[in-house]
Amino acid sequence: MSEPTIHDVIIVGSGPAGYTAAIYTARAGLNPIVLAGSVTAGGALMNTTDVENFPGFPEGVMGPDLMTKMQEQAERFGAQVRYEDVTAVSLDGAVKTVEVDDEVLQARAVILATGSAYRELGLEGEKTYAGRGVSYCATCDGFFFRDKPIVVVGGGDSAMEEATFLSRFGSSVTVVHRRDELRASKVMADRAQADPKISFAWNSEVVDMHGDGALESITLRDTVTGQTRQIPAAGVFVAIGHVPRSDLVADQLELEGGYIRVDEPTTATSVPGVFACGDVVDHRYRQAITAAGSGCRAALDAQHYLEAPTPNW
Ligand code: NAP
Repeated sequence: MSEPTIHDVIIVGSGPAGYTAAIYTARAGLNPIVLAGSVTAGGALMNTTDVENFPGFPEGVMGPDLMTKMQEQAERFGAQVRYEDVTAVSLDGAVKTVEVDDEVLQARAVILATGSAYRELGLEGEKTYAGRGVSYCATCDGFFFRDKPIVVVGGGDSAMEEATFLSRFGSSVTVVHRRDELRASKVMADRAQADPKISFAWNSEVVDMHGDGALESITLRDTVTGQTRQIPAAGVFVAIGHVPRSDLVADQLELEGGYIRVDEPTTATSVPGVFACGDVVDHRYRQAITAAGSGCRAALDAQHYLEAPTPNW
């Protein structure tokens, strides 16, 4: 029986961080395998519309187009992109194993770029009305709420982006924010606030959801007075940030508040030969361009490690 192939590098994840790591490692001749995920390939930008702040696109670029271009660029240099989910990893030692469906892959270096997942409100109604009114992705589900009252929860850029996008569908869009001041950047806040279809429920949190089968209304509680009121809502889009996707490696790498801890300014994790980049590391910036930048750093770190695979590379 032939010996299993030991790859140079396996990249887990396929957002801007994963694909940038793939471009750099491929160009370095390391023949990376990118395990892109079966459902989430391309990462969070696949659910975004216009990306206006990625340098090089003066007219903006659609999130999915940007990711397709990054993937094509990586493949052009020889990266092998596989639409598979990683089920387990074993990261200790000189040769690491990464399991997908029914295959165990081996590599000398692993780059983790698993990104983050939508943060949930933690309400029972999110489960009850999942797919029947509650969503985390306006571009995926906005169309279903044409001419219906829509609520967006959150006060950051994501919430503003979702609200602005949804205003073309809904009869109304109400942004529910727990404070009286937005966290969003000025340009995105201004755009949402100038939209006549969008109104704001300040100092408010969603505490309950109602409806016979499909969602019909929600209960808001005033975070200052404690008073509650019910408002109509056929769709609730939750845009309250993200949580890092680190479960896969939680028992093998050091984490900090759920994020993979790296030895800044490098992308080295607590295990030699394992590097991490993008939103699974970054709780501060979380931009497509910073994710891409850290993917580049991870690739260079992995390359240097492979040239001299010692803990003190
Ligand atoms: P974020 O900036 O962390 O904002 C999350 C918002 O949700 C905050 O307003 C927060 O309220 C609120 N929130 C958090 N937990 C909550 C809870 N349990 N209940 C109610 N509200 C809650 O997250 P984001 O908007 O997803 O943005 C993440 C990063 O991506 C940011 O760096 C952002 O600039 C970037 N981004 C950029 C673009 C773009 O430029 N096109 C688009 C989207 C996102 P508080 O304000 O009270 O904390």
